[in-house]
Amino acid sequence: MADTVRVRFAPSPTGELHIGGARTAIYNWAFARAMGGTFILRIEDTDPERSTEENKQVILRAMRWLGLDWDEGPEVGGEFGPYLQTQRFDTYAAALEELKARGAVYPCFCTKEELDAKRAAAEATEGGYSGYDRTCRALSPEEAQARIDAGEPHVWRLKVPEDHGPIEFDDAVYGHMSFPADVMDDMILVRTDGTPTYNFAVVCDDANMRITHVIRGDDHLSNTPRQILIYEALGRPVPTFAHLSMILGSDGRKLSKRRNATSVEEYRDRGYLSDALVNFLALLGWSLDGETTIISREVLCSQFSLDRITKKDAVFDETKLDWMNGQYIKEMGADAWVQASRPWLVQAGATEADIDARPEWYAKLYPLVAERLARLDEAADKLAYLFWGGRVELDEKSVAKILTKDGARADEVLRAVRGILADESVPWECEPLQERVRALTEELDMKAKGVFQPVRVAVCGNMVSPPLFESVELLPREDVLARIDQTLSEVFGA
Ligand code: GLU
Repeated sequence: MADTVRVRFAPSPTGELHIGGARTAIYNWAFARAMGGTFILRIEDTDPERSTEENKQVILRAMRWLGLDWDEGPEVGGEFGPYLQTQRFDTYAAALEELKARGAVYPCFCTKEELDAKRAAAEATEGGYSGYDRTCRALSPEEAQARIDAGEPHVWRLKVPEDHGPIEFDDAVYGHMSFPADVMDDMILVRTDGTPTYNFAVVCDDANMRITHVIRGDDHLSNTPRQILIYEALGRPVPTFAHLSMILGSDGRKLSKRRNATSVEEYRDRGYLSDALVNFLALLGWSLDGETTIISREVLCSQFSLDRITKKDAVFDETKLDWMNGQYIKEMGADAWVQASRPWLVQAGATEADIDARPEWYAKLYPLVAERLARLDEAADKLAYLFWGGRVELDEKSVAKILTKDGARADEVLRAVRGILADESVPWECEPLQERVRALTEELDMKAKGVFQPVRVAVCGNMVSPPLFESVELLPREDVLARIDQTLSEVFGA
């Protein structure tokens, strides 16, 4: 094998880890794992306004929640650090010195006003504006040096070679790409204030960190030929590029904050499991075999390959995500579910202390809902009835449909069932209680539903609760009886 694979995820801290960025991170991580390579996290924090400590933490937190562990990067360190661009300015300065020594750059003293005027003039002509007119490229080295020595503000531009043929590369997703070099602007690498531009910093970092594959969004595709020119100027090997297509919403439009949930933490807060989200995002543009939908991290980390990435735009189908999340909830097991569901159990009426004190009781809630939840947050609503104590919050519609429609019957049923539930000789467990109530349906010559539904409304508040007697078993007898009494008195005035 050639060099070991070294890949990086290089987010700019903007205050969220965007779902598209998360997919890029997953692909880099899975590729590194599958190839026995190294996954690097590099924070591109050169924008001082947005790159706050808090915004950086948002990224690290989201990466950890997603379970995307990095081998080198913030907080874990590594041989090629530091991993924050703001701490790497000396390396950009050194690269600039190298480029100067190679005669690959030149200082440009044109002011903003001059550049604006040139642009406006060029735009007015037929050919239009095709980049900086290279005025300063013509300065003699002596004159340039004299102006620098005199303290004249200047940027450093790349001297795009005159005789460069097309810039070509084989993108692992897009295939062979070719860009004419003669239309390439002599781009700025270092600004007047000494800071590097995005393209320059990225190339310096990728070269110095020995990155072998650059896997990133295709919004960077147009930067790639520029970056290749910088690699060439530095005399460094060009990595393999793999550009990922866009993720569109189900309306066919680009995901946007206004129309969609776009950040990883929003998905976490809406009750999605990170395993499910990773699985789902991995399949937005990649497939194992064209059909498998449930793919564990282990499979992803052993089978991921660049050649199964598609260049078709991927569509974010929330219905599919919900289905997938439901599958993971069904499989996760009671203890993991209780831990992951804490915030929503608390919303339902539990307390953290109670969850810690009675883990077995909470574990028993899992089978009630495991097959009924698409998202963890739904437990807040669906399980609230278990935390009402001796009171019931009766849903009006359910009362009308189940209790008052045939009031005399419902009244009779509730009283009879109350009698059974009050009988202390019947063990307070799902099976025996259910059996006794079933026997009652025969005595009354009624269908099971006719008996169960009124009880369900009286105990759980509505007609669509989780399984009834499993729920009853979880509640203290006196609470269940009190709820039936409350229903009898509220609905039938008894
Ligand atoms: N920092 C860039 C971004 O957030 C990514 C740069 C790259 O992957 O080359 O879009």
